[in-house]
Amino acid sequence: MIRFENVTKRYRGTSKPALSGVDFEVQRGEFVFLVGASGSGKSSCLRLILREDVPTSGRVAVLGRDLRSLANRKVPYFRRHIGSVFQDFRLLPSKTVHQNVAFTLQVTGSSRGFIQQAVPEALALVGLEGKEKRMPHELSGGEQQRVAIARALVNRPQVLLADEPTGNLDPATSVDIMQLLARINAGGTTVLMATHEAGFVDQMRRRVIELRDGEMVRDEVHGGYGDTSNIPRLAPEEVRGAAAAAALTAVQEVQRQTADLSVVRAALAEELDAQRRAAAAAAPQPEREPQVVEPPEPPRRGVVEPPDEAERAPAAEKAPVERPATPRTHPIVLPEVDVAELGVADRLGLSDQDDEEVGPTS
Ligand code: ADP
Ligand code: MG
Repeated sequence: MIRFENVTKRYRGTSKPALSGVDFEVQRGEFVFLVGASGSGKSSCLRLILREDVPTSGRVAVLGRDLRSLANRKVPYFRRHIGSVFQDFRLLPSKTVHQNVAFTLQVTGSSRGFIQQAVPEALALVGLEGKEKRMPHELSGGEQQRVAIARALVNRPQVLLADEPTGNLDPATSVDIMQLLARINAGGTTVLMATHEAGFVDQMRRRVIELRDGEMVRDEVHGGYGDTSNIPRLAPEEVRGAAAAAALTAVQEVQRQTADLSVVRAALAEELDAQRRAAAAAAPQPEREPQVVEPPEPPRRGVVEPPDEAERAPAAEKAPVERPATPRTHPIVLPEVDVAELGVADRLGLSDQDDEEVGPTS
């Protein structure tokens, strides 16, 4: 879904590369932390994924497209499939909450009817019902970030990129935002979150890719920040402790909610095993760490533009096969689902249901 192949990024006028030989692959449905001290290259990675910049050497492929060969005029369409949120929220200050979320849809030509339905649903998903008419300055920082997340999701992207989304928030609010991102990921959206904060990463037990001076020094499937001795500790120790404790409580809460979904989890694990065996039998691959075999991804209806030939298996081109279960490289955390909420997830493309409004390719 996102692949970096030996990526080096050297900015003009700098002696040291910002990224050096970075190599990783993120599978559909994963939640990945991109960690490292300030200046280690996290934002540079995210900019390459969004095609806001291009690598000096190496290759970046996203959603089945080699970004080198993506024509400039196609970049706006490509970006519709990727939501992004930032540390500073980046809301339009003179627009209401509703208008902020609706703006992207209006710019991209969605119908009024669709906007009237999709915006309240996105706001409900992030817990901001009833605040549609507020202005950004009438909201707390956490609420502003929720608006930004709703805006990022309203286009039903397959990938959500978050660059230090909790960087401007207090520990308790940060935990709320992390829970929200975990819930969005549990709905099927791939999440890549850059952060220099150790507390959350330790507790979330998700895959961690660590950068140090532009080099990848760690790729751990089950998270944990690892050796934190080189990471600057910006907050006082007791605050960090409170944040970690709060994060743990949050994670335990999500786990409690999902305990009775162990059957679903087991079935998904079995399905993944079967896919791995089938893929291994079809095309034996050299060992890679971490080893994950991605099943061919079927085309979605209403495709906006054709995928790059080189990126697609011929078999996946035509047959309208059923979408396979999401492959995961970490324990699957599913939120408690109620029927109303499921409707919201469907409308936002967070479920496995395809739709005709947005048709990313893989
Ligand atoms: P992080 O997000 O981890 O803090 P960045 O990706 O922003 O790291 O930066 C990585 C390195 O690249 C830093 O040394 C930074 O100064 C440098 N850098 C980032 N953007 C630019 C740019 N546009 N021009 C020159 N140097 C840059
Ligand atoms: Mg950054």
